[in-house]
Amino acid sequence: MAEIRLDNISKTFNEDRVVKNISLTIKDGSFTVLVGPSGCGKSTILRMLAGFEKQTEGDIWIDGKLVNDLAPSKRDIAMVFQNYALYPTMTVKGNIEFGLANRKVPKKERQQLIEEIAGIVGLTEHLNKKPDKLSGGQRQRVALARAMVKKPKVFILDEPLSNLDAKLRTQMRTELIQLHEKLGTTFVYVTHDQVEAMSMGDEIIILNKGVVQQKDAPIEVYQNPGNMFAAEFIGQPP
Ligand code: ADP
Ligand code: MG
Repeated sequence: MAEIRLDNISKTFNEDRVVKNISLTIKDGSFTVLVGPSGCGKSTILRMLAGFEKQTEGDIWIDGKLVNDLAPSKRDIAMVFQNYALYPTMTVKGNIEFGLANRKVPKKERQQLIEEIAGIVGLTEHLNKKPDKLSGGQRQRVALARAMVKKPKVFILDEPLSNLDAKLRTQMRTELIQLHEKLGTTFVYVTHDQVEAMSMGDEIIILNKGVVQQKDAPIEVYQNPGNMFAAEFIGQPP
């Protein structure tokens, strides 16, 4: 079980309160999308979840465990960023293997795990290539594979598709949904794109200025927007 619970979470940078008293539960195994305009605090929330940023107030629980003082590596979370950096001199295999070698996973196990994950994300044919020989979509798959290899309980994805062209983005949305079904892991997915949110999430959290506006299934958000902001934001063309 990897339920996430935020209890009265706030974050202040200097004098600026960018996340304000957020309390919510992200269901185990859900594909939860956090959506809102640029600058509303989405990445800050993800960074607090993953442990890269400490909340100013409040408690974070993962899997029934209070993680406030746990380092990122102890939280069983893998994060995929928008600007994923691959090691340019290493092959795809090397990029995926890097974290495993660091964690002293035996070589034979590494090989098996890499093959399994390469199969899931469709990189089997590309394992010996360097990143500069890959397409944008393939590079994004390497970033995903690198996160998956840790077998995390929770996947956090911060606008992972925003550097891709429209066609590839649509294709990768479908692939991510399938990946979620296959893994059964909790996904927390951030986007500023309403269409992406509505089409990908089984649960949507709408955020504005550091405040949760609504948290519901997409159909509920669509049929019963919780307030004016939710109605206008979801109604807007992307
Ligand atoms: P989003 O991901 O929704 O675009 P962010 O979480 O990145 O928004 O940022 C929310 C607000 O917090 C913004 O006003 C941003 O400028 C501010 N902010 C984010 N990180 C820092 C930081 N390390 N120091 C100061 N201000 C920050
Ligand atoms: Mg962001």
